[in-house]
Amino acid sequence: CGIVGYIGKRDVAPLLLEGLQRLEYRGYDSAGVVVNSPKSGALKMVKAKGRVRDLEARVPKRFAGTTGIAHTRWATHGAPSDVNSHPHLDPENQVAVVHNGIVDNAADLRAKLEAEGVVFASETDTEVITHLIARSGADSLEEKVREALKVIEGTYGIAVMHADFADRIVVARNGSPVILGIGEKEMLVASDVAALIAHTRQVVTLNDGEMATLKADDFRTYTTSGTQTNATPETVEWEA
Ligand code: GLU
Repeated sequence: CGIVGYIGKRDVAPLLLEGLQRLEYRGYDSAGVVVNSPKSGALKMVKAKGRVRDLEARVPKRFAGTTGIAHTRWATHGAPSDVNSHPHLDPENQVAVVHNGIVDNAADLRAKLEAEGVVFASETDTEVITHLIARSGADSLEEKVREALKVIEGTYGIAVMHADFADRIVVARNGSPVILGIGEKEMLVASDVAALIAHTRQVVTLNDGEMATLKADDFRTYTTSGTQTNATPETVEWEA
């Protein structure tokens, strides 16, 4: 339902929770957040069925990170629960995915992955995306995500973090909005401009079939087949 992500210098968890609150008006049944560990890049996650304030109450005092992605879920596949909340991590905690939309061929993909020995933690359609990315042999995170999306049918706005590629967030859009927020030495992403405007008015709205790589001081856009699209930011007017 709602996505917020940030990469920069600020302590990311409070910023993401505030962003999720701005998306609450859209409705949701659970929420979650993942941040990197500044030293190791390891991913730390908290999820909760219920309200953003229930999530907030579970976030430990020490939850430092300067890159993170967060989600409010409106369940389509799997009941509202802590485990089915996003983000979805692979068993090695390398890859974290938040997803808006529906993977239509999730049952097929899940059966194939289970036949290869993959153990699923949740009942969601989203978790297949996590395992596909985690199992990709491609060298770059962008290529891993691209390979996963090749076999996905359905709609998505996704944001992806990877412990081995801690300097970036990779996002993609097909039928579910993804908007980049371009800041000064910080970049944001959200499914709704309402979560961005406290931080920047410079935005890039991705098109269907488009992806982006966000780094703290740089962003680039390209198609799911890898062609650069060189999107330029627009200024949003917003009456508060
Ligand atoms: N289909 C996904 C799920 O049920 C995402 C739902 C959403 O857009 O929040 O977990």
